[in-house]
Amino acid sequence: MNAPVIYLDNNATTMVAPEVIEAMLPFLKDRWGNPSSIHRFGGSVRRSIEHARERVAALIGALPEEVIFTSCGSESDNMALKGFFAIHGQQTRIITSTVEHPAVRNTARFLKEKGASLFELEVDGEGMLDADQFDELPIDEHTMVSLMWANNETGVLFPIEEIAEKVKNRGGTMHTDAVQAAGKIAINMKTTPVDMLAISGHKLHAPKGIGVLFLRKGFNIEPLIHGGHQEDGLRAGTENVPYCVGLGVACELAFTGRGEEEGRVRQLRDKLENALLASCGGAKLNGHKEWRLPNTANVSFENIEGEAILLHLDENGIAASSGSACTTGSLEPSHVMRAMGIPYTFAHSSTRFSLSRYTTEPEIDKVIEVMPGIVETLRSISPFVERG
Ligand code: PLP
Repeated sequence: MNAPVIYLDNNATTMVAPEVIEAMLPFLKDRWGNPSSIHRFGGSVRRSIEHARERVAALIGALPEEVIFTSCGSESDNMALKGFFAIHGQQTRIITSTVEHPAVRNTARFLKEKGASLFELEVDGEGMLDADQFDELPIDEHTMVSLMWANNETGVLFPIEEIAEKVKNRGGTMHTDAVQAAGKIAINMKTTPVDMLAISGHKLHAPKGIGVLFLRKGFNIEPLIHGGHQEDGLRAGTENVPYCVGLGVACELAFTGRGEEEGRVRQLRDKLENALLASCGGAKLNGHKEWRLPNTANVSFENIEGEAILLHLDENGIAASSGSACTTGSLEPSHVMRAMGIPYTFAHSSTRFSLSRYTTEPEIDKVIEVMPGIVETLRSISPFVERG
């Protein structure tokens, strides 16, 4: 099936930018040398990887040698948590939140089974975390705080700079899952004292199958994959050259285009959100209104099933996402909606619209046009609504 006409599911994955594909092709066709080879056919490929590394580093204000290429965001998160646990063993204490992506949540829970202690901090009704509690929490040299920079469902931004400052002052380690944040908001490793940070290529217009772990210079973890000397001995395996190059270009595009994300994309998002809240009865915003990614709107429509909304949107050529996951045949609100304490009648209709720099105003206008009718139709047949 061809791509849907109106794609508003960019927090799930993004279109690969044409410039990225263009840059990757030579490395699939002619320049297929092994970057570890001594000969020039391989050596020139090595230089392209190093150039890509510089471009990734520039996006997050890191040093090139602090950028480790991985296969995805999940691998980067696993590498951070398991790599820390491999050194600290049973003394490991992991502090995370109840709204993390499974890449962190399930890894932390796995490490708990292996003997780590685990604290999952609660968020408030707007999905926000209180930074002040990090003055009181038990934090020492065996503690790793792992918190997402931006939430994938609501776009809510945790105050990572402030929390990292507190964690480091108290001798702990700070990891952040920046998979949704990278490329959408400014991230600067020069001024934010995190030790490790995860990025995923397919969330910022590079292909699926490439990620990065930022590992601060001098900070030590055990590798997840042992073998050759690649990536400074921290991630063995011959590099995925075309994808590394593609990610480099994607990061450069994100770096130069971030103003647009902050400006035009935010305006379109706000236009969509305001219109839905005004024109669809029983609509409510999920997540903090200000502390949010510029591209994400998560809106609930009381007493309607999210899946039904998505199907109707799909029929209109619009791709969005819902906050419910189909578990054992029943539509349960996501762990994020539950953690925020969103009432059931709203939580199971949570609908996420996530925009990108390719989103146009006529596309947003089309969603604004069709949504009230969809909501009205579904509410008229909703089993949750009492009718007189
Ligand atoms: N972390 C967050 C916040 C995400 O949204 C995702 C993907 O949706 C991941 C981690 C996992 O990234 P990947 O799909 O590259 O493994």
